[in-house]
Amino acid sequence: MNKRTFLKLFSAALVSRLISPLFAWMPTVKLTNWAGNLEYSAALTPATSIDQARDFVRNHAKLKVLGTRHCFNNIADSMHDLLSLRQMDKVVSLDPQARTVTVESGTAYGQFAPYLHEKGFALHNLASLPHISVAGACTTATHGSGEKNGNLSTAVSAFEFINAAGDVVKLSRNQDGESFRGAVVGLGALGVITKVTLDIQPTFMMKQYVYENLPLDQFKEHFDAIEASAYSVSLFTDWQNKRFSEVWIKSRLEPGHEFPAPKEFYGAKLATKNLHPIAELSAENCTEQLGIPGPWFERLPHFRMGFTPSAGKELQSEFFVPRPNAVEAILAVERLRDQITPYLLISEIRAIAADDLWMSPCYKQDCVAIHFTWKQDWPAVSKLLPVIERELTRFKGRPHWGKLFTISSATLKSIYGKMPEFIELAKKYDPAGKFRNEFLNRNIFE
Ligand SMILES: Cc1cc2nc3c(=O)[nH]c(=O)nc-3n(C[C@H](O)[C@H](O)[C@H](O)COP(=O)(O)OP(=O)(O)OC[C@H]3O[C@@H](n4cnc5c(N)ncnc54)[C@H](O)[C@@H]3O)c2cc1C
Repeated sequence: MNKRTFLKLFSAALVSRLISPLFAWMPTVKLTNWAGNLEYSAALTPATSIDQARDFVRNHAKLKVLGTRHCFNNIADSMHDLLSLRQMDKVVSLDPQARTVTVESGTAYGQFAPYLHEKGFALHNLASLPHISVAGACTTATHGSGEKNGNLSTAVSAFEFINAAGDVVKLSRNQDGESFRGAVVGLGALGVITKVTLDIQPTFMMKQYVYENLPLDQFKEHFDAIEASAYSVSLFTDWQNKRFSEVWIKSRLEPGHEFPAPKEFYGAKLATKNLHPIAELSAENCTEQLGIPGPWFERLPHFRMGFTPSAGKELQSEFFVPRPNAVEAILAVERLRDQITPYLLISEIRAIAADDLWMSPCYKQDCVAIHFTWKQDWPAVSKLLPVIERELTRFKGRPHWGKLFTISSATLKSIYGKMPEFIELAKKYDPAGKFRNEFLNRNIFE
């Protein structure tokens, strides 16, 4: 999608928003996910208020909520009914003393980030793109990069959702302890999230540099130093030629945090123009590089709001391995290079800090995520995934909940120690499985 098409769709969304109160309860046409690899099985109904969403929950036996449709698997799909809270996208309140912002759950990070910055605040991190909804991102443990940065759900300090009975439930980090920690990465299984309160901090400026061609040998020897070199570090590779084609380094413009940007970084050369992670693609949709200072929300993501992120026509998979296993796991994937590269657009390596959220892939362990952006060839990718997963499960790899994987539910149960408690927690809010779908039944509940 180019900028013009994006704007066309954006204006269409705006028009539909203006007329939506008239048609709020009329099912609309079937939708696909963002990547177009999945057609949702049910019609979508928008809600514009908590009361509308509560009525919908009360009047439907089974449903799922759709966020911004950026998952690559069927975690958001429903055979019955789909509800959208995308029009509920306001900032509810900003509390400078408590250092929190509360937003309606349908908002995308890129929609309220400029407001936060204007008010002097920032989030701790963002994913590679700002286009995704807060509820959709947090419920799937979506992450950015940075060995000291927890995934985006770790910023959630409280949230509200509608349970299966249609009642509003509030959970907070301070008051609900383990239930809260079990519910944040809820995989859409607990109810319809309506509001999310996020931790904020004083706003900060950043610089982003890209280096080209970091040799694999340097990576092996200096992985920890490379990861520790800045606030957020991403390594990109197509697994060929024993090198990482690009290293993206994002640093905060604060004393002690700034990256010195030498001409050479562990054998990689400082880029002299903006680059796309897939070097052949135009960098038009990428955030500014070359050390040009900018606010956190225009440097932490790789892709700019208002443009199509990534490549567009693609599939994605991602696996989190415990940090101590990272180098060996990455080398194991590298040995599969000749099987992987023909179907790959690009891979990305990112570090994420440990957290205490039950269903987060980084529960109680610092992780490194090994990501694959695939060509849209599911027959080939579906054959390749078990080969990669076989390697990565040796290193206790866990799949990203929103991306494509074939790991069995038995394996998932063995690597998510908190799964039995999570199932009990979900049943507390949804005893009859109103919010369960094929994905949840297959991977969690059956
Ligand atoms: C180009 C691209 C880049 C990406 N980059 C990253 C990245 O850098 N890091 C990363 O970790 N992931 C990344 N992802 C994956 C993606 O961000 C996540 O999978 C995220 O869940 C998408 O959010 P969404 O709102 O689009 O979710 P959807 O796909 O719409 O829904 C995901 C889940 O959230 C549930 N849900 C959504 N809204 C609500 C609600 N209000 N109440 C209850 N449940 C709800 C859905 O039912 C479903 O279970 C990327 C995806 C794409 C397409």
